[in-house]
Amino acid sequence: MSWTDSAPETDPYAGERRRMVESQLRHRGIHDERVLDAMARIPRHCFVPEDFRSQAYGDHPIPIAENQTISQPFIVAVSLQALALTGSESVLEVGTGSGYQTALLAVVARIVYSIERYATLAHGAETILARLGLNNVRVVVGDGSRGLREFAPYDAILVSAAAPSVPQSLLDQLSENGRMVIPVGPTHAQELELIRKQDGKPVAQTLEGCRFVPLIGAEGY
Ligand code: SAH
Repeated sequence: MSWTDSAPETDPYAGERRRMVESQLRHRGIHDERVLDAMARIPRHCFVPEDFRSQAYGDHPIPIAENQTISQPFIVAVSLQALALTGSESVLEVGTGSGYQTALLAVVARIVYSIERYATLAHGAETILARLGLNNVRVVVGDGSRGLREFAPYDAILVSAAAPSVPQSLLDQLSENGRMVIPVGPTHAQELELIRKQDGKPVAQTLEGCRFVPLIGAEGY
């Protein structure tokens, strides 16, 4: 199966996925057609544990291995839209988790580096991404609160775990005029922030209230 294969005869979830895009995303103000198109194509159910398959397109987060979660579709869409990707960018994702958002990034950006602290999750995600034929992705195991210096700078950084404050290493690894989306705040509730690097300094804007699992690491919790 490839990610382009979303015809109803080969994918029983194609209808549910289209409804998710219309009612949960477009209807609530997501207007970036590249994001909507990617979310209409990427089979979210492939990234969800077997027991939760029937809820894959529901309007909520879903538990995955290692006590982590795959984010609610709307929050993923808000984050991707805020990054305003055009297809030419090199992107760093912190917190691969299931690999669902990684897959979307692979469709809307040029190349994706994704870092995950649990090897089990990283390897699981790699396997699904390869099966879907998404080969512009590199998954690395490590502490992403310090970024991934090896492939920096990045045009965009997407952090999918909550940080106490914006890690300096991530700011350092963002290109001038680059954008970062990151949930910032205490572990029980955060604000999803869009940060733009202008003249070397971060300019922040709040997007949404949210609740993510914590970013555990040297520059996290
Ligand atoms: N975007 C993911 C969401 C995963 S939840 C998805 O679509 O499935 C957040 C992930 O961040 C978890 O897998 C967690 O293990 C990971 N994480 C937490 N702290 C981290 C760190 N310092 N470095 C890398 N990954 C981290």
